[in-house]
Amino acid sequence: MAIEFNDGDGRQEERIVTGGFIEEDENEVSLRPHTMDEYIGQTKAKENLSVFIKAAKQRGDQLDHVLLYGPPGLGKTTLAGIIAAEMGVNIRITSGPAIEKAGDLAALLTNLNKNDVLFIDEIHRLNRSVEEILYPAMEDFALDIIIGKGPAARSVRLDLPRFTLVGATTRAGRISGPLRDRFGVISRLELYTHEELATIVKRSASILGIEIEADGALEIASRARGTPRLANRLIKRVRDFAQVDGDGVITGKVAKTALEALDIDPLGLDMIDRRMLESIIYNFNGGPVGLETLAATIGEEAVTLEDVYEPYLMQIGFLNRTPRGRCATPKAYGHLNIPYAGQLEM
Ligand code: ADP
Repeated sequence: MAIEFNDGDGRQEERIVTGGFIEEDENEVSLRPHTMDEYIGQTKAKENLSVFIKAAKQRGDQLDHVLLYGPPGLGKTTLAGIIAAEMGVNIRITSGPAIEKAGDLAALLTNLNKNDVLFIDEIHRLNRSVEEILYPAMEDFALDIIIGKGPAARSVRLDLPRFTLVGATTRAGRISGPLRDRFGVISRLELYTHEELATIVKRSASILGIEIEADGALEIASRARGTPRLANRLIKRVRDFAQVDGDGVITGKVAKTALEALDIDPLGLDMIDRRMLESIIYNFNGGPVGLETLAATIGEEAVTLEDVYEPYLMQIGFLNRTPRGRCATPKAYGHLNIPYAGQLEM
């Protein structure tokens, strides 16, 4: 049986479960932890970074360049800010696509003070010419500038202050080898556990002045697909329900009803997750199916599926990535109440 999906107007930016930044996240800044202690979870990354920060401070040096990678909304930008705060330096925030020309990057670099942090989000999207400026900057703290044109052109080397580049990416595989090699610290951020997310939910609720009970926090946490940004977003949506239907307190029951109304199932799966799995199961007999084909079938961008949807589906054991494509697991069949008769080899 093949089923067809109507894409409707469901654009990724508007979907509540996306880990990416959407407009309603704008007061995110106030929810952002400012110290390592406030930053919940990511124990391994935190422990390592704390040692490196301490050592760099003792030496009076800048921290080595740091590459943070993992799905959107896991706290990469937040961690970059904390690194700068713990180092006691300034941070300048930019992103790969925002740096269009080599000159843009040169301007940013020459405006840094000693030991400052330059944060480049989506660093995999830097263009080549910009990336080449970054190599000597990261390695020798120098900027090579070409003056003049044609045979008269000459290269002049400008010294830069010693600085720390913190790069963030959702796709470590897309970063060129030479760039990756110039990072001294490479840290992968993991999806958060329900308990960690529940702690984040309680902390955010208290900052926002929302009353929440422990099981309300856990209900939101368990449907936030391991992502703090999403957990914070869900709090606000659930609060609306609590306010209109109850006395404003987020109890377990209120959270459950609200999240069901938002079409987010007990595991945090939304329409797109379910479409994706159903498509693999019904249209491709459980897989394997190539990412592009799958994306075209459900009317989504392949990058969105790969960055936003797949990490969580893989984490909960619903999806396997094989060299021949994506496969739905028996667990996914079970969750969707579809009988599993074994996958046909294709
Ligand atoms: P990324 O840069 O990875 O997309 P952000 O750093 O912007 O993610 O984090 C998104 C939001 O999630 C932040 O505003 C912050 O409120 C929250 N957040 C992220 N990580 C944590 C954490 N470890 N503890 C508490 N809140 C967090």
